[in-house]
Amino acid sequence: MAERAEVIIVGGGIIGATAACALAHADIDVILLDMHAPHMQWESNTTDLRVSALTQASANILKTLDVWPDMIQRGVCCYRDMKVWDGNGDGYLHFDCADTDFNELGHIVENRVTIAALWHKLQSLPSSQCLTGHKISSLQLADSQAELTLDNGKQLSTPLLIAADGRESFLRQQAGISVTGWPYRQDGLVATITTDRPHQHTAWQRFLDEGPLAFLPLHNGQCSIVWTLSTETAQSCLQLNEQAFLDKLHQASGGILGDMLATSQRAAFPLKFQYANHYCAPHMVLAGDAAHAMHPLAGQGANAGLLDAATLAELVIKGKQAGRPMGSQKILRQYERQRKGDNLLMMSAMDVLNKTFAHHNPAFSKLRSGGMNWINHSAQIKNMFNQHAMGLRSDIPLLAQSLPCW
Ligand SMILES: Cc1cc2nc3c(=O)[nH]c(=O)nc-3n(C[C@H](O)[C@H](O)[C@H](O)COP(=O)(O)OP(=O)(O)OC[C@H]3O[C@@H](n4cnc5c(N)ncnc54)[C@H](O)[C@@H]3O)c2cc1C
Repeated sequence: MAERAEVIIVGGGIIGATAACALAHADIDVILLDMHAPHMQWESNTTDLRVSALTQASANILKTLDVWPDMIQRGVCCYRDMKVWDGNGDGYLHFDCADTDFNELGHIVENRVTIAALWHKLQSLPSSQCLTGHKISSLQLADSQAELTLDNGKQLSTPLLIAADGRESFLRQQAGISVTGWPYRQDGLVATITTDRPHQHTAWQRFLDEGPLAFLPLHNGQCSIVWTLSTETAQSCLQLNEQAFLDKLHQASGGILGDMLATSQRAAFPLKFQYANHYCAPHMVLAGDAAHAMHPLAGQGANAGLLDAATLAELVIKGKQAGRPMGSQKILRQYERQRKGDNLLMMSAMDVLNKTFAHHNPAFSKLRSGGMNWINHSAQIKNMFNQHAMGLRSDIPLLAQSLPCW
């Protein structure tokens, strides 16, 4: 006999675990399933290669879910300034939290910190159950429910299945939801770097010929880098010995943080522009990277996914309170309407930005630098950028406004 829950979420990354936490706060009975158990503890001298720059809106979601204090204990790093400059011109942009009502522009957080704190919170919420160690082997979308079979033969059923199983979502494919997109032929090379000069709680980003190089401040004083390179260059950088890599990185950084003293192991992630043509199917809905994968140059993928999770949870909770059946297609469509356009706009903006900096024509470079400097000197436009970069718009879900949705 199949085990049943009001909601089943496949994918216990940042997005799936956030949706689970929000629903469990409303006493909705939820199963969170991931093929891997998350790391809940680690050696203090290690760092996760995957980090996210979380906006104020994302921090609000995690604070309202009461996950933030645990994250602080595990280690988050605020950034108060963001400095962006053109490696091929004199274009320069400086965003400073002193121009906002906040003490910081956002936070850099290792993904393992966010995920561990969310799973830890879930363990204390009685209506949630976490299952790990097994993949989904089949999905059936029936008239009244979604039916899942795991690779150990276990069967599960639910009126609402949330697919938060990442960019290559197995569930999205099984449900026959098509995607539109293209590979960037660029990789995001990531590593943790010890630099000679302190990071000054600043997110640094230098635009170079093959893509941007970002230095993101970490709570232990090191920096996490996200370096967009052609796939070929990224692969060759992975093969370099430590000193040769650090020399190349120092040159690419323009010396902004002094010498590069040490690097962790390195990894490279192939980048893609991809969106699901539909966010929902009967009794199933997509969230996070399963619905949209975007260029990481402005660090917005997880932030967009957190808004998906908060919006979806709010609609499902309100629907239940109003007596609507769980998994109602009307609610899932409402979610799609609220999030798809917003996500597409963000992805397209990242895509345009990536293309803008890929132009090496001197006249275009001059125009680009002029544009950056013009924005830098316009308080009004910078304020608009700041609000957007912090994720604080008027139409965001309740959790992102620091309001409970249960
Ligand atoms: C280099 C790089 C830098 C980035 N920097 C930022 C940043 O600064 N800020 C930001 O907001 N975003 C950033 N992003 C994007 C961000 O990392 C992603 O958008 C986010 O992690 C997506 O989370 P998710 O939970 O949707 O998917 P994932 O993190 O991919 O999680 C999916 C989960 O599903 C599980 N799973 C998959 N298939 C199955 C299955 N069949 N059965 C069971 N479980 C399954 C996996 O084990 C995994 O735990 C960056 C991305 C890259 C590549």
